[in-house]
Amino acid sequence: MEKYDMRQGLISNYVNSVLYSDGYLWLGTDKGLCRFNTIDKTITTYSSPMTISNVSYNSDACFQFHNGMFAWGTSDGIIILDPKTLNMQEPSGRIYIQDILLSGQSIRQYPDLLHKVPLDSISNITLNYQQKNVTIHILPLGNDSRAARFSWKMQGFDDDWSDLTDQRDINYTNLNPGTYQLSVRLYNHKLISERTLTIHITPPFWATWLFKIAYILFAGWLAYFLLRFYMNRLNQRYTEDKLRFFTNIAHDLRTALTLVKAPIDELNQTNSLSGHDREYLQLAAKQTERLTSVAKQLLDFQKVDTGKEQFEPVMADIVVLIGCRVSMFETMAAAKHITIAYYPDTETCLTAIDTNMMERVIDNLLSNAIKYSPEQSAVEVHFRSDEDKWRLKVVDRGIGISREAQRELFHEFYRSQNALSAQISGSGIGLFMARMLVELHNGKISVESEEGKGSTFEIIVPRCKNEEYKDTGKQISAPQDDLSNDCPTEDMRILVVEDNNDLRNFMIRPLAKHFSVETAADGVEAWEYIQQQIPDLIVSDIMMPRMDGLELCRLVKSTFETSHIPIILLTALSEKTDELRGLGLGADDYMTKPFDMKTLTQRIVSIIRNRRILGGRFIASGSMTEVEDSAGKSVNTLNDAFVKRAMEVVVQYLDDTEFSKDDFAREMGVSTSLLFKKMKALAGMSVVDFIRGVRMEHAMKLIRENRYSIGEIACMCGFSTIGYFSTTFKKHFGKSPSDFTG
Ligand code: ADP
Repeated sequence: MEKYDMRQGLISNYVNSVLYSDGYLWLGTDKGLCRFNTIDKTITTYSSPMTISNVSYNSDACFQFHNGMFAWGTSDGIIILDPKTLNMQEPSGRIYIQDILLSGQSIRQYPDLLHKVPLDSISNITLNYQQKNVTIHILPLGNDSRAARFSWKMQGFDDDWSDLTDQRDINYTNLNPGTYQLSVRLYNHKLISERTLTIHITPPFWATWLFKIAYILFAGWLAYFLLRFYMNRLNQRYTEDKLRFFTNIAHDLRTALTLVKAPIDELNQTNSLSGHDREYLQLAAKQTERLTSVAKQLLDFQKVDTGKEQFEPVMADIVVLIGCRVSMFETMAAAKHITIAYYPDTETCLTAIDTNMMERVIDNLLSNAIKYSPEQSAVEVHFRSDEDKWRLKVVDRGIGISREAQRELFHEFYRSQNALSAQISGSGIGLFMARMLVELHNGKISVESEEGKGSTFEIIVPRCKNEEYKDTGKQISAPQDDLSNDCPTEDMRILVVEDNNDLRNFMIRPLAKHFSVETAADGVEAWEYIQQQIPDLIVSDIMMPRMDGLELCRLVKSTFETSHIPIILLTALSEKTDELRGLGLGADDYMTKPFDMKTLTQRIVSIIRNRRILGGRFIASGSMTEVEDSAGKSVNTLNDAFVKRAMEVVVQYLDDTEFSKDDFAREMGVSTSLLFKKMKALAGMSVVDFIRGVRMEHAMKLIRENRYSIGEIACMCGFSTIGYFSTTFKKHFGKSPSDFTG
């Protein structure tokens, strides 16, 4: 059985009457006449003339005459026709696009999409991702549109062609971004026309490739950043822990080393040591010193690293500062027969720096250059100043640093392989700290080096005024005074004796902040000044022309008028310091170059403070020797004799209420002003305080003996009234005399 309907080309499925003739079946339908070829099964429709095409054929109302004519009963009367004369017109036509609706809106409302072309002529359109619902109105144009059927297929969306239909709307909803090709076929019994329309739907910007790539890159970058941040945090925590651990150890080490150093120094002063013993001791002393310096470095480093160290820029002459540090290292270089030369391009360059920090940076570069250079080589220091920055280059011809090591150099605890193999000792903190300190000054540090040939370290630092740091928030506070308030020092007159002009000039500034400073270029000049002016303290270099520091020290300490003046000797090498101590010159302290000014200042203050503390104690004990011995200081017999005599004089005049400063000086055989100075230097107090102190100590002794009344004791100790005695006593001991009686 076969079935033929509209899909094969019938005008209508309502076939009301059928006639057979000459191999054709003639079919009368409710919409017109069709002819079915029984051999090739094709169907022909007749769109003209209107009389036969535009009527409804009735049921069973057909008849064929003998001459072959047909008679049909139709809704418009009876039709008689000759089938042979019927126009066998070939169907033709094309597809006309009447409209395209985008989400219900005609495309004509979007003139941009049409590019000024008639709608029917377009072959492709580009829509955005919001215009994803598309309806296309099509019309068949041709000689028999009633039999027109459409079929379509959207490539990229449909798998198959749609069924033939006379429906004229092609509808697609929810088209994803992409390119589609809509093919539409027009059938009129057979395929008579086809046209295509390319529809391109652009993706939203977040779905574009570019966006996706950017998104992936961003996400990757973010992940990397977060990971790095996290790693850094971990690292930082780890470093902090490590650092805390190291600093704790450094503290312990330093404490232990101080305890080791004291007995070594003590032993060193013993005269009975053999050459061998002394050599061993010096070796031990040298190593303790080295360890102490490493411990100090670690502690300094921790201070910088944790930001505990205050950045205190002051206007300073960097050319002079470098010159001074270079001269400090001359002797260290000379010990290795290394020449060290300084080439500044200007004589002066004022800029704001934290001198203490910058000294440490320069010292590190200089000491490395000497340390990592062979004997008989040369180190050059170049300085150049520009408008807005200054640069320092330290050039050596030492062991050099490999390329890989150069990258790691400024990291903490890094030591390059060749330094290790050359067995040169070090801690690997210096350069890391130098970098941090230079960066605090907004500067940069870099290195150029070739193994075996030498290295050049360079720092470049912007020239600033002190105020400029305030803006960056780096200047945390005005330079704070390290010296405690209990020790006023402004009236102290310090004499600096140093033959190196740079060094001498450099030392004035930081010292002048705390003391009144005078200078002398050698021992002879210094001695003249000392005799006339009697300064309160002397800081002297050892190596000087005409008269060296040792000779000066001997003179000062052996002259009655000056023996009380404390002296700090500046030495070149640490080994020498120990030897010097052993000589018993009577110097109050020794400092090894290179030293920093802060330490020197602290040492000066500490000597003054110690004298003051000692003063109180020796009045109580009755002898300076006892006190100084127990404090581990060298003893100056002149000073001891002076103090002893002074106490004897006061005791001798104990009950003399009229006893005055002038009487005291006369008895001592010195001028009032010298008595005053010596008293201040040796006992750290004024003459009046000294007399009162001795009297009070004596009074206390008498009270403890419990033999006299308070009134008697007051009288015996030179007080005219009990009231005045009691008040003075209470001020001195914190309790009144009656608290000690009975
Ligand atoms: P230290 O010298 O105490 O080891 P630093 O941080 O000052 O520590 O230096 C780190 C490392 O850099 C040294 O251990 C050494 O390997 C290398 N280095 C520094 N300066 C020089 C130099 N002038 N020549 C060769 N190597 C150097």
